[in-house]
Amino acid sequence: MTETPQDPSGDRGRGDVGYDVTQRKMERTESESGKGRRVVVIGGGIAGSLASKLLQFDSDVTLIDPKEYFEITWASLRSMVEPSFAERTIINHKKYIQNGRVVTSPAVNITNTDVVTADGVVFGYDYLVIATGHNDVLPKTRQEKLSQYQAEYEKIKSSESVLIVGGGPSGVELAAEIAVDFPEKKVTLVHNGPRLLEFVGQKAADKAFDWLKSKEVEVILNQRVDLNSASDGNKTYQTSGGETVHADCYFLCTGKPLSSEWLKGTSLKDNLDGKGRLMVDEYLRVKDRKNVFAIGDITDIPEMKQGYIAEKHASVATKNIKHLMSGGNEKKMSTYKPGSDIAIISLGRKDSVAQFPFFTVSGCVPGLIKSRDLFVGKTRKARGLDPNLVRTSFS
Ligand SMILES: Cc1cc2nc3c(=O)[nH]c(=O)nc-3n(C[C@H](O)[C@H](O)[C@H](O)COP(=O)(O)OP(=O)(O)OC[C@H]3O[C@@H](n4cnc5c(N)ncnc54)[C@H](O)[C@@H]3O)c2cc1C
Repeated sequence: MTETPQDPSGDRGRGDVGYDVTQRKMERTESESGKGRRVVVIGGGIAGSLASKLLQFDSDVTLIDPKEYFEITWASLRSMVEPSFAERTIINHKKYIQNGRVVTSPAVNITNTDVVTADGVVFGYDYLVIATGHNDVLPKTRQEKLSQYQAEYEKIKSSESVLIVGGGPSGVELAAEIAVDFPEKKVTLVHNGPRLLEFVGQKAADKAFDWLKSKEVEVILNQRVDLNSASDGNKTYQTSGGETVHADCYFLCTGKPLSSEWLKGTSLKDNLDGKGRLMVDEYLRVKDRKNVFAIGDITDIPEMKQGYIAEKHASVATKNIKHLMSGGNEKKMSTYKPGSDIAIISLGRKDSVAQFPFFTVSGCVPGLIKSRDLFVGKTRKARGLDPNLVRTSFS
């Protein structure tokens, strides 16, 4: 079976489709035909992938990302207990960008006219979209990432006990996946804060805590674990509270920093707030910039940092870029207004805890919303891909 991107315009595009520039050094790329319509998107995560997809048939788009694929981040914990799940959730950028460039190298500098990558290639832009979200050290190729999930699965499978460090969404969702798929294993979650899931309310945190307890996951709060405290052959770790945790393997699920440190050396350095977020206006343009937009977790918008929100940003920003490219009046651009925050934390394959604006609920009913497919079909569909088909080979 093959994964076929659906081309809404039927335009098979220019000759530079899927053009890979990673081999070229210290070179400027210029597209004469694209003058006035050159859009560079930095970051191929939830926001940047959708923005590139939405712009590809209206502009000369270049997506810059350190890796060749886009990953549905919130499906990663399922892939650790079911590696084949990742076949649908790790998507090569070229599968949904048929009419644009994909550059697999991180951006390292931005001037008022250009973006420079670590490979030394310079890309001129008329419009720039920054969507660098969070930093993570990830394999460059899709195949390497799939192999990583296989290795993590083998590690879990061959262990009798697993230690999870960090009680945010990644730690809680991983503990739940292991508790459901491998109920015979002893799972311990150590979190240095007073409660789990500090990004949501106390009620949601309590429900997640109770659910994990009901699955016999040991949750240790307000303590740090010293991962250097176990010597070879002795897999017993010390916590800051003097407890010991025996575990055959461990996973670090601590939060990832924003990928904005590099922006401090660019022409956008003065557009960062104290937390390293890019300050944007109601059109999602970086403050005081006419042609630079920022979307997703990197923005300073006071709202929950969620993927479905990052996708809304991508829709608004790309609409505005198309409007400006077609000579539209600046004042008629679409505005973005934060909506109500919703968070759903999956608890294994059937259950979840969901926080809505006026109530919080857990169990199999909210589990129906997220936990079975983890929004994978929906996320693929938004990028023009078949929600179900699995690609079996890649060229
Ligand atoms: C366990 C977990 C569960 C979650 N569940 C949900 C959920 O159910 N629903 C939901 O809506 N949200 C969920 N989220 C939140 C969601 O994952 C994020 O809000 C979303 O990923 C933000 O998207 P983004 O595009 O802004 O950033 P990211 O997805 O972090 O993407 C950033 C991209 O930028 C790239 N990049 C970084 N630096 C550079 C550079 N210098 N040059 C070029 N590229 C660069 C990275 O490689 C990456 O591809 C969850 C998060 C976690 C951790």
